[in-house]
Amino acid sequence: MNFEHYPENLNEVSQRIIRACAGCNRNPEELKLIAVSKTNPSEAIHAMRKLGVLHFGENKVQELVPKMETFAGDPDITWHMIGTLQTNKIKYIADRVHWIHSVPKRKALKEINKRAGEAGRVINVLIQINISEENQKSGCEPDDLPDLLKAADAMPNISVRGLMGMASFTDDAEIIRPQFRLLRQLLESEQKRGYQNHKLEELSMGMTNDLEIAVAEGSTMLRIGTALFGKRDYDV
Ligand SMILES: *Cc1c(COP(=O)(O)O)cnc(C)c1O
Repeated sequence: MNFEHYPENLNEVSQRIIRACAGCNRNPEELKLIAVSKTNPSEAIHAMRKLGVLHFGENKVQELVPKMETFAGDPDITWHMIGTLQTNKIKYIADRVHWIHSVPKRKALKEINKRAGEAGRVINVLIQINISEENQKSGCEPDDLPDLLKAADAMPNISVRGLMGMASFTDDAEIIRPQFRLLRQLLESEQKRGYQNHKLEELSMGMTNDLEIAVAEGSTMLRIGTALFGKRDYDV
């Protein structure tokens, strides 16, 4: 594989973030760039890591586990599980993963809490919200969020840090924008409730095609794959 475009790709993404922040008076340092390395080999992560990228995201447990193992000697890397979560696979990642973005229901929260507890860890969790009203995109319904957060507040090995959402796959900014805005409004209204343990401050939203809209609507975590690693041969 050929990684020679990575410096250029990373520079391009950084410039997009800086321009988007300038357009809405935000500080680019408020944003974490998560390099979504799914379907790319460990060598690709290594090449991106050499350029200073420290956050990596994967959407499948069976890909995340060997990659976390490969980079076990590099404590500066933060690992993000961003894909649809099968409850019975949480046990394979609970000893190493730092963030799980894609938690839609109580059963998954309970399992993360249990497995994190066994590993003597606290795992950062984002609740995934169904913002696009497309059935194939999993997530908690906005109305169910308060109950879920209340239940999670009593789980000592979970720290709920915010919300995650995926907008509709479209080029139409006027469809995407209100979906991201809904996610921000949900976060703001939950921040006011004063949970004991949650530190609700993160909004994981924005991918290659919609990062500018996400930044304008308050994203704090951008999940970028294609713009950094190039077009994926196959998508899973
Ligand atoms: C693949 C993926 C991304 C990155 O998508 P790109 O369009 O390649 O930037 C972000 N979030 C999730 C959940 C993904 O599965």
